[in-house]
Order: sequence, then C-alpha cells, then structure tokens
Amino acid sequence: MYKIEDQMVHARGVVSNAIRSGRLVRPGSCEQCGRQITEYAPDGRRWRKDCREAHAIIKDPAQPLDVLWVCYWCRGKIHGARVRVRQAAARRAARQRAAFELPLGGPHRQEAGR
Ligand SMILES: [Zn+2]
Repeated sequence: MYKIEDQMVHARGVVSNAIRSGRLVRPGSCEQCGRQITEYAPDGRRWRKDCREAHAIIKDPAQPLDVLWVCYWCRGKIHGARVRVRQAAARRAARQRAAFELPLGGPHRQEAGR
C-alpha cells in the first residue's frame, strides 16, 4: 500500500497533466465561496498569479480528477495554517540567505562563487 503522501504526489501529477491537456478546465469562480476569479483586483492592479487562477483541491487522492475548484483565499483556509507557516519559513530563510550573501557578493561580483 502506498503512503498517503505518495498518493498525493501522484494525484497532483494527474491533476496538472489533466489541466495541461485540457481535460480539467479551471472555472471562473470559486466552488466554495462563489467569488468570481478575476484577472484584476478592484483597484485595477493585476492580481498575482496565485490569485488569478482557480486552485484544484484534491479531495481524495484515489479520485484525483474529482477536484474542488477554489479561489486563492479559500485554498488558504482549506490548507489552514500549514501553507502560511511554510511560506513564512521560506521568506525567513530567503531573507537570511540574502542578508548573508549580500556583503559577500553584492552587485559587482564577478563569480557566483560556486
Ligand atoms: Zn473562494
């Protein structure tokens, strides 16, 4: 029996292939809150990519194509704090890397040093 993580990895592959091949089509609204998924925010600025597209939530990795299409905000709620914690950790790590690398390299460095 596969682990649930392996099943999810497989299911995500199935879903992304299906989206690419047109078998699954991202809808224009969120199935959870009904929000229209739009290209531009109310202030006229273009949403970042995450917010311009419906996200496919895999309800059951055994039925990967039976997805719930949700907006960015509902996706965040569904994934709960996990996504935010992971993003915050990634931002923190990137900041630390940047703070560490800047004095060494800077804009004039010739070699990447690797
Ligand atoms: Zn929504």
